[in-house]
Amino acid sequence: MIVTLEPDVSEEKIAALMQVGSRYPGVTLKRYSFQGDRHTVVEIHLLGASQVIRSIPESAFLEMPGVRGVVRVSTRYRLIGRHHSQAETPGFQYNGVSFNEKSVHIFAGLCAVDTPEHVEAVAATLQEHGLCTTRMGAYKPRTSPYDFQGLEKKCLPWVFEIAGKYGIRVVAMEVTHTRHIEEIRTALEQSGNATGVMLQVGTRNAQNFELLKELGQQKVFPVLFKRGMGITLEESLNACEYVASEGNPNIVFCLRGVKSHLGDPHRNLVDFAHVPVVRAQTRLPVCIDPSHAVGRPDVAPDGIPDIFHVVGQGVIAGASMVLIDVHPDPKTALCDGAQALLPSQLRRLIDYVALVRKAYQQAVVTAAANRAPEQ
Ligand code: PEP
Ligand code: MN
Repeated sequence: MIVTLEPDVSEEKIAALMQVGSRYPGVTLKRYSFQGDRHTVVEIHLLGASQVIRSIPESAFLEMPGVRGVVRVSTRYRLIGRHHSQAETPGFQYNGVSFNEKSVHIFAGLCAVDTPEHVEAVAATLQEHGLCTTRMGAYKPRTSPYDFQGLEKKCLPWVFEIAGKYGIRVVAMEVTHTRHIEEIRTALEQSGNATGVMLQVGTRNAQNFELLKELGQQKVFPVLFKRGMGITLEESLNACEYVASEGNPNIVFCLRGVKSHLGDPHRNLVDFAHVPVVRAQTRLPVCIDPSHAVGRPDVAPDGIPDIFHVVGQGVIAGASMVLIDVHPDPKTALCDGAQALLPSQLRRLIDYVALVRKAYQQAVVTAAANRAPEQ
């Protein structure tokens, strides 16, 4: 059973509710705080044997001040789940950037960090276009052991320094082993926290439960979780619940296509139809990765690259983050050059995202006007 409190409720009211909860024998109370960009929402979770929890009347809490609602969760997504259908996605703030559903962040950057010159060229272009978020892969999980595995911790000092120099506030960076979290934390500290990092769980590690638990136990870095390419959506959402249940609710869920030849000629079958599904089932902001979904530089007869077309599909469905590969010289990229945009395409991408986002916002207004008033 979950008791959801009104935003920013006082400590006195929380204490009074905890006291009521503690009167029930065999019940463990857990308090969770979701620090959004404007409000903090507290939930009290009552845990115990199902017959014990079932015997607690909802009215015990519903009548108390500060209570927004009580839900009996049959769902497995106790922490990441959206328990009130139209409640706002609380989101979170990290290093001065708000992650919620009110804006779209474009994380454009290198799939794999190769040279300081390339990192600098990308960072400078981002700054020029007013972006403060990027992707930079230092640890690369590759299909073949003979392929480039990433520059690993060696590149972190200059990646963070360059990011700081160009006002980048958040770098999305994949970790494939728990020790990478510490390496990143140390390098960031040594850079004087020149920037911030969102730790990425790659599709290949979507069910690496030890990594997920460790990411949940640290509360410094938010987590960008990429859907497992060959598992169900439910399995991927449960993986996010691992992170949240260990104590870190600051998670963004990323769709990146699923493995199937039914998506040919694209690299993966684009699954951005799941943007509204994830938004309905969870309160996580949703990201789309059009680069790993499409994997090719093809341009449709309308002159719009396939990668842009799928960006449109995700943004029109309410995605609030776009993770996208950019490389100044894709032919020499050490990983996934074929799917990288050129820095010169960034302006067009930003404008395209803004255009589609505007259409989405208009559609939301229309939907609200047509929605039957609640009884
Ligand atoms: C990546 O984003 O660099 C990556 C490896 O993606 P994925 O885990 O989705 O394949
Ligand atoms: Mn890649």
